Amino acid sequence: MSFETDLFPVDLRSDTVTKPSAEMRKAISEAEVGDDVFGEDPTVRRLEKTAAEMLGKEAALYVISGTQGNLVSLLTHCSRGDAVILGRDSHLANMEGGGLAALGGIVPIQADDPKGLPSVAELDLVLPPTDNVHLARARILCVENTHSRCGAHASSPEEIFGVAAWAHKRGLLVHMDGARLFNAAVALKAKPSEFVKEIDSVQICLSKGLGAPMGSLICASSAFIHEARFWRKKVGGGMRQAGIAAAAGLFALSNNVSRLADDHASAQSIFTILKGAGIQVLEAERPTNMVYFSVSDERSANKLFAACRKRGVFFGRISPVMFRIVTHLDVCGKQAQAAAKVIAEEYGAL
Ligand SMILES: *Cc1c(COP(=O)(O)O)cnc(C)c1O
Repeated sequence: MSFETDLFPVDLRSDTVTKPSAEMRKAISEAEVGDDVFGEDPTVRRLEKTAAEMLGKEAALYVISGTQGNLVSLLTHCSRGDAVILGRDSHLANMEGGGLAALGGIVPIQADDPKGLPSVAELDLVLPPTDNVHLARARILCVENTHSRCGAHASSPEEIFGVAAWAHKRGLLVHMDGARLFNAAVALKAKPSEFVKEIDSVQICLSKGLGAPMGSLICASSAFIHEARFWRKKVGGGMRQAGIAAAAGLFALSNNVSRLADDHASAQSIFTILKGAGIQVLEAERPTNMVYFSVSDERSANKLFAACRKRGVFFGRISPVMFRIVTHLDVCGKQAQAAAKVIAEEYGAL
């Protein structure tokens, strides 16, 4: 297919669509490997050590995906029939196939999280402070940062301390789904470790904004990671010469973190162009690399979506009338602006 200029196509469906750069592929091809189930892959070891240090935790475990990272964390924390408190709009509650219930017998308790984190008042509401035989025993509070459905909003370390303090006072542990924690850290100019000081386990994705082809890490205490290694094997997540992939992860952690600021700037310029065109755009308080926008009815949405695709502008559709744009390292600032202009033009022609 040919498009107006060589800036197109622009794929803004997700930050998971990035492909390894030539330098990343070089790191992959030179990776030293061994059997990681035997604990003999030096590159995986290095990746785990590097991630643990960056997050200020004792140890880390390399897992296949973010979903597996969250699942293995929860399986390690909980027994069957235990409950976890999740944000109603969280990825864990909505986008992970109900794995915690299907595979762990874990009961989800949902709390409203319209701004990314549930408020303490909401948490008190969903978990009354009584030792009541009728209730599933809550073990963990899960938080997500950045929070995808809340416009990729970044919660601050202080806000996270607030809900973590509530959880710890109630005897709960806290798990963070930090698929995009590095976006939050770059947006708020804080170290990733500052966000997780009061967090018991955290999952970070290498395959989102950081641009690796696969992989996530769970970071926590050494004792927790030791147990989590058993659960990873049980769910089929033991990998052999995984250094091939871990090398890409190491490359991503050393080269692709600070540049996330470019993705945030691109998202901001898309936001400005769409808003300027009169499009209904979700206003996140502390946005990072996503822009959500909507149109008035399904027919207009179908038309806009198809017209943009025809011109090489791809984004996600998350409801009949709502769309999601995600910026990432395979889309430069110029492409982001050109894509936004196409959307604005096609909106104008509706
Ligand atoms: C992508 C994502 C996950 C899951 O990661 P996968 O690697 O796709 O399994 C978990 N949480 C959030 C917030 C995500 O965006």
